[in-house]
Amino acid sequence: MTSAVQTVEPFAISPEQSIGEAYRSMIRAFTVAGIDTAALDARLLLAHALEVDTATLISAAGQPVGQKGQAVTDAARRRIAREPVSRILGWREFYGRKFEISPATLDPRPDTETLIDAALAIARSPDLLGKPLRILDVGTGSGCLLVTLLAELDHATGVATDINPAVLEVAQRNALAHGVSPRMAVRIADALVGIDEPFDMLVSNPPYIPTLEIAQLAPEVKFHDPEFALDGGVDGLVIYRRIVAALVRVLPNGYAFFEIGSSQACNVTELLRTVGRTAGWPVPSTMKDLSGNVRCVAQKTLRSTQAK
Ligand code: GLN
Repeated sequence: MTSAVQTVEPFAISPEQSIGEAYRSMIRAFTVAGIDTAALDARLLLAHALEVDTATLISAAGQPVGQKGQAVTDAARRRIAREPVSRILGWREFYGRKFEISPATLDPRPDTETLIDAALAIARSPDLLGKPLRILDVGTGSGCLLVTLLAELDHATGVATDINPAVLEVAQRNALAHGVSPRMAVRIADALVGIDEPFDMLVSNPPYIPTLEIAQLAPEVKFHDPEFALDGGVDGLVIYRRIVAALVRVLPNGYAFFEIGSSQACNVTELLRTVGRTAGWPVPSTMKDLSGNVRCVAQKTLRSTQAK
C-alpha cells in the first residue's frame, strides 16, 4: 500500500497580492491554525507589517502589498505558530497605556487591571489621598503594575523587583515612556529576600500556575510566556507563601494586593488569615475580574485594633 504524502506550502504573501487579498489569506490561515480571533489578529498584524494604522487598511485594500509582503509573511507565520499578537508587535496595552514587552517578560493580561482598580480605590480613599505612598511591586516583569500606579498617583514612589535582570531593563524603559522613571527604582530580588525597608503598599502578580499544569496551557502561554513568570511550584502557591511570610516586615502598616489564579481565592485568603491571626490583621478582601473570577486578594496589614 502506498501512502500519499501531502506537503503543505508555508504561508506566503507575494508583492503583487493586494492588501485585501493578504488580509483574507491571513484570516483563512489563522482559522486553520485554530486561532479564535483570526480577523482581529490579521488586521493588527497586517497594519503592523505594512507600517500603517488599522484605519488605513480599508482605503488601501486594492493596492499591492509590494516590498512589505515579506514582513506580512513573517508576521503571519509567527502567528500561525501561535505566538501571541502582542509579542509580534512587541507591546501590549495595559490600563490604557502601551507597554513594551520582551521574551523575558510575562505578557500583561487585561485581568490584571483588576488589581490596579483595587489599589487605586484604596490609594484615592480619603485616608490616603495625596499621601506620598511608597509602593513595592514584587516580580514586576514589564513593570505594568508599578508604572501604571505611579502614572495614576502623582505623589507615589516605588520599587520594582524581579529575579531576572533582563526584565528590569524593560520595566525601566516603560517607566521612562510613561514619565515615572524619576519616581521608580528597580532592584534584583527573589521574592522579598533583601527587601528590608517598609512600604505602604505591595502589589504582586507572582508566578502561580502549578508546575504540572503549565503543559496544559494554550500554546500562546506555554511556549511564549517565560516559565519562571508562570511556575508557582507544585501547588502554585510557593511564591505567595514566601511573600506572605515576610509581609509583617516589609508592609508593617499598609495594603497588599495579589493577583491570583481563578481557583486560588480560598488558598491565598487562608495563607493571609493564618499570618493575620497572629499579626492582628483584619480579614482579607477579594475582587472579581471582568469574567467574574476572583482575581485579586487584598490585605490590610495594620493591626485591626488600631485600624480605623
Ligand atoms: N495569568 C497568567 C495565566 O493565566 C499567569 C500569570 C501568573 O502566573 N502570574 O496564564
